[in-house]
Amino acid sequence: MMHGMQIGAVSFADEGVEKVLDIVQKRGAVNTIFLTTFTYGRGLAGRQIPGQPFPDHGSQESDEKTFHGGNYATPHPEFYKTTVLKETRATEHGNLDILAAVLPAAKKRGMKVFASVEDQWRSDVPGVKECSEVDLLGRRTNTLCLYHPDVRAFWTGLVTDLCKSYNIDGILFFNERNGPLLNALGASHFQTIDSSRATCFCEHHQRAAKEKGINFERARQGYQMLDKFVQASLKGQRPSDGYYVEFNRLLLQYPEIIAWDQLFDLGKHQVLEQVYSTVKGINKNLQVGFHVEHVNSFNPFYRATRSYEDLAARADFLKVVAYNICGGERYANFIRNIGSTVFRDVPLEELMRFNNHLLNYGNEASLEQLPATGLSPDYVFRETQRALAGAKGKCKILPGIDIGIPTRATSRKGTPQDVFLATSAAYKAGADGVILSRKYSEMKLDDIDAAGRAIREAMKVTK
Ligand SMILES: [Zn+2]
Repeated sequence: MMHGMQIGAVSFADEGVEKVLDIVQKRGAVNTIFLTTFTYGRGLAGRQIPGQPFPDHGSQESDEKTFHGGNYATPHPEFYKTTVLKETRATEHGNLDILAAVLPAAKKRGMKVFASVEDQWRSDVPGVKECSEVDLLGRRTNTLCLYHPDVRAFWTGLVTDLCKSYNIDGILFFNERNGPLLNALGASHFQTIDSSRATCFCEHHQRAAKEKGINFERARQGYQMLDKFVQASLKGQRPSDGYYVEFNRLLLQYPEIIAWDQLFDLGKHQVLEQVYSTVKGINKNLQVGFHVEHVNSFNPFYRATRSYEDLAARADFLKVVAYNICGGERYANFIRNIGSTVFRDVPLEELMRFNNHLLNYGNEASLEQLPATGLSPDYVFRETQRALAGAKGKCKILPGIDIGIPTRATSRKGTPQDVFLATSAAYKAGADGVILSRKYSEMKLDDIDAAGRAIREAMKVTK
């Protein structure tokens, strides 16, 4: 069983390696560290995000100005010869190599260490401009094209470097990027809908499309029509046949819309496959896991594009996001987003009830109450069981548990009891462990205690 926690480099730098390991092992019953090793994102790296209260440990000073991101271990140049993405060393902790610092201490305690690697970048990293995606209007973005050969070479180079240079137990790979259809519709919990920013329409995507027999011009036209539909919907300009019918008609007129979306997913999954086969090629005992993002839980259209059985075939474990406390406001955002375009004809409360049935959610709070209430521990239980049933025993299922993930001031803040119930629900559903998320630098000590209590009680029952 893997009782894991996600921890960023800054926490070890701030509090000391032994002290952090002591807290998570003794109080949190954690036996596996998912150490954020590569990302430019603040979800997994850095201290508490700006504007949120600090937990009762670690530095109480914001790192807003000093946060940089990148590779918190030492990049060895020989692994990055075939990519322009060569200079990725994180700069905020000087010469600290987080894997070199944490690995010996964790191993001494019998703890496993996975390197967490996330596809999140910043625009000033050398090479990012050359590899960036191109949106519907031809603008370069800050996201990297998954078909760009240099991007492919970077991910395989990075995981090769990490697995050959360090005595880690494996890799947890994060890629929360969505395809152009969800981008265009804003059909996630992210708040803004900007349909003209759908990606990717670059030359590498065009080449991949050609190989698959997908007509690029037709795809672009389809997304231009979709952009018009979304913009008109947001203004409340109702098509004479209704919002949903108009959307469905677009998909029938332009099957290239779906084809282009699937092309994005194919690229994403090819990267996952490459990561998996690269790691296994180095040492088949190393374990590879993939993070399955929150939108997979809320959005039936997205769900349809992800088969757990299929993902399980190329991973040793899946981290399935089942964050229930922040899940309240996120799910409400998702409903409001799809309720402002495709499902604009449906009253929002009814839309959410209907969606709950599609997703097999139980008796959750009303849309109005949801941000302040959060989703229930029963949601964690159901999402865990769904993943276990879908994966059919082909890989381990480790639900991601919400501990103090930041929410808006008016939304629910989790308590130790919430943590206890959510963690317990995952084990009761039959999970192979948990991954306490998003990061230690957001978690209060009482909450870590509560997770530890739930894990120890679950282990007593299994014995
Ligand atoms: Zn592209």
